[in-house]
Amino acid sequence: MPENHAKFCLEFFISLFVFVFPLFSFSVAQQISSGGDRLFGKKPGIDPDYDLIMDESLAKNEYPAAKIAKSLASGEAPMAAKFCTPEVWNKYKDKQSTGPAKWTMARAINSGIMHPDSFVGCHAGDRESYDEFKDFFYPVIEAYHKGFSMEKGSDLKGTASERMDPSKIGVDLSESAQSKIVSTRIRIARNLAMFPLNPGGTQKSREDIASMMQKVYDGLPAMGYPELAGDFFLHTSMTDEQRQALIDGRQLFRGKDRMQAASGYHEHWPHGRGVFHNPDKTFVNWVNEGDHIRIISMQNGGDVTAVFKRLAAGAKAIEDGVRKETGVDGEVFMMHPKFGAVTCCPSNIGTGMRGSVHILVPKLIKAIGFEAIDKLARERNCQARGSNGEHSAVVDRIDVSNWRRIGYPEYELVADMIKFANFLAALEDATPP
Ligand code: ADP
Ligand code: MG
Repeated sequence: MPENHAKFCLEFFISLFVFVFPLFSFSVAQQISSGGDRLFGKKPGIDPDYDLIMDESLAKNEYPAAKIAKSLASGEAPMAAKFCTPEVWNKYKDKQSTGPAKWTMARAINSGIMHPDSFVGCHAGDRESYDEFKDFFYPVIEAYHKGFSMEKGSDLKGTASERMDPSKIGVDLSESAQSKIVSTRIRIARNLAMFPLNPGGTQKSREDIASMMQKVYDGLPAMGYPELAGDFFLHTSMTDEQRQALIDGRQLFRGKDRMQAASGYHEHWPHGRGVFHNPDKTFVNWVNEGDHIRIISMQNGGDVTAVFKRLAAGAKAIEDGVRKETGVDGEVFMMHPKFGAVTCCPSNIGTGMRGSVHILVPKLIKAIGFEAIDKLARERNCQARGSNGEHSAVVDRIDVSNWRRIGYPEYELVADMIKFANFLAALEDATPP
């Protein structure tokens, strides 16, 4: 009996070792790897690509005089440094916005001070920020959106989706441009009136937005938008396959941007972040990337009309859905009486619209390079970006889009982009191999 018992014990431990331990270690390994996945790109601990790190002076609520002076001397100062003069700083340094973010000057300019290579480098924490720090934000807005006056404001008529009328674009892509276009994407940035902007938000505000949007997406078929309906995938729970498919289709956002991290965009990453898309992945929404919602219409090829039309329907569907879900009667998107849609970054305010094509111009890229193409774009109310979006390198295709976002109807901004794509295609054709 004791011998049998000993044998049993031995067998028991052997089987424990052979069968149970590997299971245990596998599950630990899986937990670590899915823990990593749940972080979704962010490194454990403080990661400057995701976490909000304050400049040393700003953290003490002191004017970053030396950094600003250095930035200005370089001739390439971000707008944050140019327009946060000592007078502006002294006027506002102890002020907090009356909105939910209790926004401060220090938070507003942190990104541009931490990253002197940023172009704008400042952000709002709530709708109130723009007016309550107006000696700072108004000049930034007027400098970015050249020709726009905060005094005069925008006099756009109708709703955004009414203005997204393809028949009013008035210009077509040339045959040459069509043949070089890989894909078209038009998006609008929107924020929900009942939440703080994300740089001033919390984990809870982000999660509440995601839960609310889930209901809005679930309601799309019943609201009469079956072609826009689809599924909402949260960063915290999407599978590797889903993630890879979204990366391949360029529908995904990954955070991981130091300039944006310094504004607080990526705080509490990846909670409350997600991507919604219809089965064709032609109607996509980003939830809590930076702004609360990016409403996106995209497809392969250069059918701008189809993309614009879908965006018009999508913008209306989301707005109506949020209204239904929240019971709010009036405006559900954060709007400003002078400029329209309120976004975290002053560059996006107004229409919040960026219409782009990915265009193949390899000879031109080789002959004159990205910077020169961007310069040509800027002279024509457009801008150029890398193959994977803002702050990314040009791999093969170049992203060209409208630069202006404010005071002009959406169809005119699409026309800006089309004209530049035509110009670029002609230049590529004229460039020797
Ligand atoms: P946004 O203005 O929406 O913030 P980003 O520059 O951050 O745009 O790019 C977001 C993503 O959208 C990137 O993955 C980028 O490659 C993709 N993208 C942008 N324009 C197009 C396009 N015309 N076709 C396909 N993908 C695009
Ligand atoms: Mg972006």
